[in-house]
Amino acid sequence: MNVEELKQQAEERVEAERQKRIDAAKAAVAAPGTENCIDCGDAIPADRRIAAPWAKRCIECQEFYEAERLAK
Ligand SMILES: [Zn+2]
Repeated sequence: MNVEELKQQAEERVEAERQKRIDAAKAAVAAPGTENCIDCGDAIPADRRIAAPWAKRCIECQEFYEAERLAK
């Protein structure tokens, strides 16, 4: 493998990494559901909104909410 090939590989890796970041940003915008937790107002991460579009709370508040509900 020569230097040119190595350079090309490095460039492709950088490009792939850049594309991944763009895709992640797009997913965050397009993710369904509520953007902010209804309890604490914190932003709900895009991966959680994609995994659970019905989620209205961040993970911490959801756990607290469920624990409280179970206690009743
Ligand atoms: Zn919260």
